[in-house]
Amino acid sequence: MTTANIIDGKAAAARVLAQVKTDVAALRERGVAPCLAVILVGQDPASQVYVRNKVLRAEECAIVSIEHKLGAHTTQADLLGLIHTLNADPAVHGILLQLPLPRHIEEIAALEAISPLKDVDGFHSENIGGLSQGRDVLAPCTPTGCMQLLRDTLGDLRGLHAVVVGRSNIVGKPMAALLLRADCTVTVLHSHSQNPAALCRQADIVVAAVGRPRMIDAAWLKPGAVVIDVGINRIQDGDRTRLVGDVDFDSALPVVRAITPVPGGVGPMTIALLMQNTLTAAQRQALTDPQPEAPCLSIS
Ligand code: NDP
Repeated sequence: MTTANIIDGKAAAARVLAQVKTDVAALRERGVAPCLAVILVGQDPASQVYVRNKVLRAEECAIVSIEHKLGAHTTQADLLGLIHTLNADPAVHGILLQLPLPRHIEEIAALEAISPLKDVDGFHSENIGGLSQGRDVLAPCTPTGCMQLLRDTLGDLRGLHAVVVGRSNIVGKPMAALLLRADCTVTVLHSHSQNPAALCRQADIVVAAVGRPRMIDAAWLKPGAVVIDVGINRIQDGDRTRLVGDVDFDSALPVVRAITPVPGGVGPMTIALLMQNTLTAAQRQALTDPQPEAPCLSIS
């Protein structure tokens, strides 16, 4: 048994945000005010909370945020129209479309409409493809935040065996791509995997992104493994609800080398990385924006 270590995602996020704030100030001195447009369609209460938190973090970093709250019956054409307008607006550097969308809107079509240069969530196929190719693109915030927590905890990840539980487009698959890029040996588990606990028990690194409360307990974990718990599950505890992860934290804690808590682990890093991506998008657009033409020199 190793000494368990709780990974402090809030402290790690505070470090990222402090650097973003410094870099935003430097960009503003060059006359560029980074700006994030957030689109919320409908009144999903959880989405409203997420959007409010993102806007608050942006304000703390001096990133301009513009909220576009659209009604639940907004048509796909109207949503795409707004995205095209924001794509064309040079003052907007990042566009975030809060998910999930109402059922009548085609999610992939909406995400694909966002300019890859402004796709701060990293969900556009051009950015997902670039990530797989190892290009320096805007990568999804949650997996990028997980990688940072892993590097803070383990340093070099080369050669380690990582098991990612879950294969969604927004967490599991990009997580596997990032781990592969860091020279890990990667196994991805999903709902059809056979003997998942035995496979997981081989891992030096476990990233859990399933959405099932406390599915992974000590029996799934090799002693000394580092566990990143992405899951956010609301459970009833007596007469109140509380958040738990996909990992049974109390059972895992004595076994692991380090583990993220829920809440206070991956969640704060996701928002911090969104701010980082908005800054990166603004820096890149500032570099590529056409500069005012220099006056012509006439040579006689
Ligand atoms: P999805 O529902 O999109 O994907 C869940 C994945 O888990 C699927 O690939 C599914 O497999 C797999 N799965 C389901 N059951 C099992 C099982 N018994 N064994 C192994 N794999 C299984 O979820 P997301 O990836 O969007 O989110 C996962 C969790 O992370 C959720 O709790 C979500 O709230 C949380 N989350 C947290 C974030 C944060 O910032 N902390 C950000 C994003 C998500 P299959 O493909 O076969 O169906």
